[in-house]
Amino acid sequence: MRKLLMHACCAPCYIYIENDLRNNGLLMEDGTYEKVDYTALFYNPNIHPKVEYERRKNTFDEFCKKQECKYDIIDEYDLNGYVKYVVENVGENKKYNNRCKYCYYMRLKKVFEYAKENNFDIISTTLTISPYQNHEIIKEVGKELEKEFNIEFIYVDYRNHFREGQRMAREFGLYMQKYCGCVFSIDNGKWGY
Ligand code: SF4
Repeated sequence: MRKLLMHACCAPCYIYIENDLRNNGLLMEDGTYEKVDYTALFYNPNIHPKVEYERRKNTFDEFCKKQECKYDIIDEYDLNGYVKYVVENVGENKKYNNRCKYCYYMRLKKVFEYAKENNFDIISTTLTISPYQNHEIIKEVGKELEKEFNIEFIYVDYRNHFREGQRMAREFGLYMQKYCGCVFSIDNGKWGY
């Protein structure tokens, strides 16, 4: 059985996917399921503020413990590094024209590094259950990293199950955030993505 490393942005996005992985396996790009040995990895160092980061991290930790599923947490917090990078490298005629592209790259690169060190065969991410994320860019970044690390990246469009996942999260009693995560997704008290 192949080993899957699932990047987890948060427990509410993971709950539906964990259930699907447990009962059916990983939904492949051709629509078939493959039974996999799965582990979830939390790595989201740019969630703002720190208290929100801790809350999402602890919710994920408690969820995985209750579900008795395999998981790990890279507990690194780097708001300053993230903001400095975005200010210097994101914008017109800069390395990235979109801060989310850098954010996906920065998080998924760490996940690929972890997968390489720990002999995983496949990588995917819970980001793709959210209709608020940019799926084309996630797929593009995942496929770039696939080539760089020689580990398969599977893009799964879970968006049709977003509402069901939210319902499951509410029933489970998970803390559910109102915005994507970074400081830029909180704009004058408006929560967004
Ligand atoms: S809005 Fe979300 S995906 Fe985009 S940069 Fe912020 S945290 Fe990352």
